Amino acid sequence: MSLDFDPNSLAIPQGHHIGGRFVAMGSEEIAVLRPSDHQLLGVITDGGEAAVDAAVDAARAALAASGWNRIAPLQRARVLHAFANAVEADATYLAQLEAASSSRLIKLTTVVDVIRTAGVIRYYAEFCDKIEGTITATENGVMSLIRQEPYGIVGAIAPWNFPMITAAWKFAPALAAGNAVVMKTSELTPHTLLALAEIATRAGLPAGLFNVVNGYGTTTGAAIVRHPAIGKISFTGSTATGAAIMTLAAQSGIKPVTLELGGKSPALVFDDHGDLAATAAKVTTGFTGNAGQVCTAGSRLIVQRRTADALLEAIEKNCLALRPGATWEEATTFAPIISEKQVMRIESLVEKTLDEGASLRIGGQRMEGRNAGAYFAPTILEGVSEQNTGFREEFFGPVLIVDRFDDPEEGIAKAAHPTYGLAANVYGRDLKQVLAAVEGIEAGMIWVNQPGRAPEFAFPAGGFKGSGFGKDMGRAGIEAFLRQKAAWINYAA
Ligand code: NAD
Repeated sequence: MSLDFDPNSLAIPQGHHIGGRFVAMGSEEIAVLRPSDHQLLGVITDGGEAAVDAAVDAARAALAASGWNRIAPLQRARVLHAFANAVEADATYLAQLEAASSSRLIKLTTVVDVIRTAGVIRYYAEFCDKIEGTITATENGVMSLIRQEPYGIVGAIAPWNFPMITAAWKFAPALAAGNAVVMKTSELTPHTLLALAEIATRAGLPAGLFNVVNGYGTTTGAAIVRHPAIGKISFTGSTATGAAIMTLAAQSGIKPVTLELGGKSPALVFDDHGDLAATAAKVTTGFTGNAGQVCTAGSRLIVQRRTADALLEAIEKNCLALRPGATWEEATTFAPIISEKQVMRIESLVEKTLDEGASLRIGGQRMEGRNAGAYFAPTILEGVSEQNTGFREEFFGPVLIVDRFDDPEEGIAKAAHPTYGLAANVYGRDLKQVLAAVEGIEAGMIWVNQPGRAPEFAFPAGGFKGSGFGKDMGRAGIEAFLRQKAAWINYAA
């Protein structure tokens, strides 16, 4: 059966989701367009401080009324399991809404985004009763306790490229740890997060524990970071915004932050990578999947010289076979760029890179999609020096820069990036060489011979250097929403 659907037939959530219901608040309207054809999907309002205040009040009341941070952990787990089941029960609607409102293709939202969102919630539901403190040895009559406690109310801010999954990486562990959440996702893709908040309430999550406010980053986002009752901020987005949030959090009571930021990740291919067609397919997907709008995209091909020409030819062939089209058509294999502004940014970065001396192999301009949306052709650039804009800046589009090397050590050295350190893809069979690359590349996530493989939920996701610090997912993902308290109790006194 075809997965195609009519994007005009979808129910669009209206308002912020505060205290377990949809609420109208704020006057500045923001039109949300479908990336595939730039038609209007819905209208939200910029909630600003008023919406964040209301969400914090709802969160405070919900914590007091439900005792969410004090009830038996298994009770929290039961609610979160019900939430995950309800997400799965609404899978078709959520997959369609995610596809209509973002760059994600329906065939992926159906088998990846919704399933993994439910999976993340379930993974952290299982963690509720695995939050362990310790009792350390002391003299008789004294007990020394280390407790892991939730912050109370936490703030979370997410990007547009995987709206549901990147949000779930935050709200699921935050709730499992016993916190209430005030969250905002990108103003470009707010609707699936609103739908998730509504589903959570219907599934039995006490109203006010999971609040979603809409709006711009500099208004509503900043209001979340600034709010004195919000104890921790978890952010995913660009490095520049991460720096602004860290500064604001420092000025707002020394608030701890987790920052999942941008990347400029290498695809390092050694001569012994194996099958040419298979490696070419992986490298192609690594920079064209979601039209390159992936934080871990393998956007710098660093290839050993003997393999380079044949590999590049095969990658180019793959690129030409990609089919741009609407996200709601199953036959589409190449996604639109999220917005006109973003496509203009990619265009200007490519232009600058060429002006600064790079040469163009393929692409380099917008392509005709079958709709009015903005599509950018898969682009391959060579001769990009380390001083060039194309080497330093994240395109966040389907652009690959190519460099070649002779010795493996030279390849590993080239894989390093001076400012980013999010991820790396390595292709090779010689275990010694592969492990040297894993050890040598300064990045938080490394995939060998399987790029972009959706990781196990236990895999901690996050970067080094300008790609941020702290982790989403895994045990570290829930620890990010807990703080340690040490207590010494002299019960013999
Ligand atoms: P962005 O930084 O523009 O926005 C991210 C979020 O922050 C949005 O909700 C936005 O409204 C909000 N925001 C913007 N300015 C703010 C401010 N001053 N205060 C508070 N909030 C503010 O990023 P984007 O364009 O939405 O997403 C793309 C970026 O995200 C890329 O750089 C990509 O690499 C990165 N990303 C990283 C990961 C990861 O796990 N490391 C995952 C996905 C995306």
